Amino acid sequence: MKNVIFLAPPSAGKGTFSSYLEKNYYYQHFSTGSILRDKAQHHENLKKILESGELVSDDIILPLVLEVLKNRDMTKPFILDGFPRTLQQAKSLDGIFKSLNLTNIVVIFIDVDKEILEKRVRGRVVCSSCYQSYNTLILEYSPKVLDICDNCGKHLIVRGDDDIESFKIRYDNYLKTMPDILAFYKEKGWLQTISNNETNQVYALEYLRDLVI
Ligand code: AMP
Repeated sequence: MKNVIFLAPPSAGKGTFSSYLEKNYYYQHFSTGSILRDKAQHHENLKKILESGELVSDDIILPLVLEVLKNRDMTKPFILDGFPRTLQQAKSLDGIFKSLNLTNIVVIFIDVDKEILEKRVRGRVVCSSCYQSYNTLILEYSPKVLDICDNCGKHLIVRGDDDIESFKIRYDNYLKTMPDILAFYKEKGWLQTISNNETNQVYALEYLRDLVI
């Protein structure tokens, strides 16, 4: 199986795609957003940055990414979700891959229209423990029991940055930085694209499986 980098606008479905690969193909999932949210529980400044939707500085994020990749389980393929977010991060990641001798990588861009993203943001809730995400506005993605995670039974919460204002900041950041990152990976021949506009994601997930095998 290939190592995967997901690139996507906010709420495009990285969480769903990642869960699919974890459950079916034993991937390890590294989400920089989740790692930072864990750290932010003890760092008020970091919490404010995350809630604003702005990016944290490379001084914080680069050592974190290096650490998780260095300490990963070498017997499993990995997913990098939420990183890189800028061209500079993409270049730094190349250096990290070289230093750790990491190869066999596919970069998957999840392409979703803005109106659909806004709808997904409005209904999104995540598990406070395992971070599985649900959507209370879309029947197929609602939890079986209101406010309770199907996976682990813990409470579901609304993420601090899941309001429409924060979405707009995150989406604007994405529009500014993503074209350069996509061009960078296209040039390397690593880039693949999956369209994920449909509520029913069966076909998108089948295509994902074909790309990672
Ligand atoms: P996410 O869960 O991927 O939407 O990330 C949530 C928040 O974490 C973002 O809005 C940023 O504040 C921060 N974050 C996650 N990944 C990065 C990154 N690669 N560079 C800078 N900030 C990041």
